[in-house]
Amino acid sequence: MNTNRKILFIVTLMLMGLAVATITNVALNFREYGYNNAIEKSKMTAEIVRDGLTAHMVNGIMDKREFFLSNIANIKDVQSLWIVRSNKVVEQHGEGLDNERPRDAIDRKVLKEGVIVREIREDAKNAVLRVTIPYIATAYGNPNCLSCHNAKEGDVLGAISMEFNINDIRQTGAMTIAKIFAINVIFIIIALWVTNHYFKPYMKLFENLQHGIKRARTGDFSFRFTTSLKDAGSEVAEQMNTLFQKMEETFGGIKQNLNTFASRSNISCSDPLSSATIIIQELSDVYKFKKTIELDGDKETIYGRFIYILKEKFDFSHFALYEVDKNTKERKLIYITDHKSFCLPIADQNSMECRAYRTASDVYSTDFPNLCSNCAEDKEYSCIPFNINDDLSLVLSYSAKDKKTIEAMNLFLPSIKNYFEAAKAVIESRTLMDKLRDSSLRDGATRLYNRRFLEEFIDKSSEQALRSNISYAILMIDIDYFKMVNDTYGHDSGDKVIKHLADLLQENIRKADLAIRYGGEEFLVLLYNTTPEGATQVAEKIRMRFSEKKFQFGNDTVVKTLSIGVAHFPSQADSIWKVIKYADLALYEGKHSGRNRVIEFESSMHSGDQF
Ligand code: GH3
Ligand code: MG
Ligand code: MG
Repeated sequence: MNTNRKILFIVTLMLMGLAVATITNVALNFREYGYNNAIEKSKMTAEIVRDGLTAHMVNGIMDKREFFLSNIANIKDVQSLWIVRSNKVVEQHGEGLDNERPRDAIDRKVLKEGVIVREIREDAKNAVLRVTIPYIATAYGNPNCLSCHNAKEGDVLGAISMEFNINDIRQTGAMTIAKIFAINVIFIIIALWVTNHYFKPYMKLFENLQHGIKRARTGDFSFRFTTSLKDAGSEVAEQMNTLFQKMEETFGGIKQNLNTFASRSNISCSDPLSSATIIIQELSDVYKFKKTIELDGDKETIYGRFIYILKEKFDFSHFALYEVDKNTKERKLIYITDHKSFCLPIADQNSMECRAYRTASDVYSTDFPNLCSNCAEDKEYSCIPFNINDDLSLVLSYSAKDKKTIEAMNLFLPSIKNYFEAAKAVIESRTLMDKLRDSSLRDGATRLYNRRFLEEFIDKSSEQALRSNISYAILMIDIDYFKMVNDTYGHDSGDKVIKHLADLLQENIRKADLAIRYGGEEFLVLLYNTTPEGATQVAEKIRMRFSEKKFQFGNDTVVKTLSIGVAHFPSQADSIWKVIKYADLALYEGKHSGRNRVIEFESSMHSGDQF
């Protein structure tokens, strides 16, 4: 039911209620009025009859009373009238006429109790009011009752009964009610017409507003409001139209911009306003992420944040992130939620075995059974490649126990890709920085770390070593009579010797150890957590292997030797620079004592006050 009909219905109900109340009130009052009127008439008649009969008695013509009584009975609306004698009067004056005997129980009751009795008898055709009034003996007046009757004051002498036809009253009442009803009906019709006429345009505008606002809630502001109203109603419609037009223009623009973003988002566009809210929230999250990682110093920290988002925002519980070096084709694991690898080892050795990286497209296990032949997962999985630049690519793998869960996780992909997209430029610049940094910290000819690296690295790592109770052995290495090679066979030949020594050092130390080109043909080796004996052994091995090498310069076969000074941190000094100096002193000692040897630093090698 529309609002207008509702209002008309309510107005009709109210008016009908009012009509019913009025009619009921009139009907009741009319009945009461007719009834009271008949009673008054009966009382008057009773008095006339009493006075008439008294006059008859005084004049001694009581025997002529029947004429009088029949005339009285002709009064309008009096259907019948009779009088009855009480026992007292019967005893004194006899039975009287035949029709003066009590006719029914009412007559007897009135004679006995001396009270007025009224009764209405009604059926469909007739309505009769019966009134019986007692005549009570009084001592007032002259003559009075006691002058003629052997009675005392208050005795019942007789009674008069009358029956009034109240059909007329009833009919008049019914007619009046019919008229009131007709008037009410006319009034209701007029009231409804007026209500409908004046309220309908407002209701129509209200329904219009309802409809337009409903559509606006879904982001559709194309609705325009119309009204036949001239006053405030038309103003409301006009203002709403202006508002909707502005909203349509503004929102249209926003929607278009958002759509370009939404194409990379998992947000459905059935309700553009709430979609916009979600997209803006997501844009804001991605923006904050980007702002944060821009200030991060290295890509490991950025990866850390990305892992945090996968866990906390997207609730991923089993996933792995890989970094692919496009030049070496190696795939390195950056992070995995547990030790259970997603892929067979071959995919790490050769990134071309990783289907996602090789095809540069998303791999979904839900697309085809056993889609990736190198996947070690027996659950559902998805592998997503993200290209960073010509050197670097990332691969995200995640899995779930069933199809439904992985499909729900896949819905997050557009959002996840937004984060990767935001991180791409930053990861790229950090990779470049790492590369630049690496090249400035390495020696170009030997690819070993240079002295600058040592200066940057050694303080931090020696402090940590002290805290963690870790020791270092420092080997200071210098080729014996190296100048001679340069002088005799040229600088290039000297370079070859230096390169050979650099490779030899790399081959003979462990991954945790560090070889540094300290100067021209001087090298420093840091042996991590090794015993003095172990350090000497490594030094000896290096010395031996170098001296075994036969360099071919022109026709000459040249053999070179080197000297090594060894010192220990922190057992010999708690400053790493001091220990380096001690190793240098030991080397110096080696040179002086004949070269081609390994010399352990001893405290006697320095005067003690030079540091
Ligand atoms: P010693 O046994 O006392 O060490 O004698 P040495 O001839 O090796 O003397 P020294 O260590 O002082 O010689 C260093 C020489 O190494 C001087 C320099 O010309 C040469 N040199 C330094 N860097 C390079 C380099 O990169 N390439 C070549 N070819 N020679 C270098
Ligand atoms: Mg030398
Ligand atoms: Mg030297």
